[in-house]
Amino acid sequence: MNRLAVLGHPAGHSRSPAMQNAALAALGLADEWRYEAIDVPPGEFADRVRAMEGEGFAGANVTVPHKEAALALADEASGTAREIGAANTLSFARGEVSADNTDAHGLLAALPVDPAGKRALVLGAGGAARAVVWALEGSGAEVGIWNRTAERARTLAGELGGEAVEPGADELLPVSGYELIVNTTTVGMDGKGGLAELRIPAEGFGPRHTVLDIVYGEGETPLLAAARAVGATVVDGLEMLVQQGAESLRIWTGREPDLDVMRRAAS
Ligand code: NAP
Repeated sequence: MNRLAVLGHPAGHSRSPAMQNAALAALGLADEWRYEAIDVPPGEFADRVRAMEGEGFAGANVTVPHKEAALALADEASGTAREIGAANTLSFARGEVSADNTDAHGLLAALPVDPAGKRALVLGAGGAARAVVWALEGSGAEVGIWNRTAERARTLAGELGGEAVEPGADELLPVSGYELIVNTTTVGMDGKGGLAELRIPAEGFGPRHTVLDIVYGEGETPLLAAARAVGATVVDGLEMLVQQGAESLRIWTGREPDLDVMRRAAS
């Protein structure tokens, strides 16, 4: 049995086990591969990962708050993971840990438009924003980064490209200057918090916008509901979850998973 897992803290809420086990079953691999969720407190992360190959694990997904630690402990890392500065996919073989980052792929695969030449506004400057900014910059988008704490947006832009967007204290974001808006903040996770928290003017949305909210929870986030109401094209965080998970599964198994099976299992 090849074991796989998602490592997080907490980890119990993760949809990855249902999604990945459904994909493995559809590939006829359910007898050879199994995917589980493991809650790992930060202080135990490195020891836990080092023990995994001996326990039959072939790989692991890594989520909050371990993505930077995952990159730091790896013996080798893909250029993508190194440039983003975080890993969400680990592989174990011959006593070595290899790190990759499939969040950037997941973002681009989830987008219904080619970002090349588009003006993209990224909301947030935390861990997930790093992969999003890296992916959009690398795809030829012109990227603006807004963050509640402006200094972090400046730092992110300095490290990965893009330009910090800093409206004045009483001003809202200039969304009419962008075609693509990606929310990477945690706003909306609990179904609360919408346009006001994200400094988006109610009048600023329209059918010309594509809005991707990487947050997912129960039902649509307030941001996506507002975007849908004004005729924007909307993409939810589950699609990115499915796409990043599918890329991880390709890395581990070399097989092509059924995305619709994964979508049904994740939702
Ligand atoms: P993080 O590193 O903790 O960053 C949180 C971000 O949210 C920061 O930019 C923070 O701004 C902002 N924020 C928090 N509360 C806010 C508020 N009330 N108003 C405005 N901004 C606020 O978290 P992360 O790892 O980037 O993850 C962010 C979200 O993405 C999580 O919900 C995670 O589950 C999701 N995610 C989804 C996928 C997927 O596949 N769909 C992949 C990765 C992550 P400050 O800097 O001002 O605190």
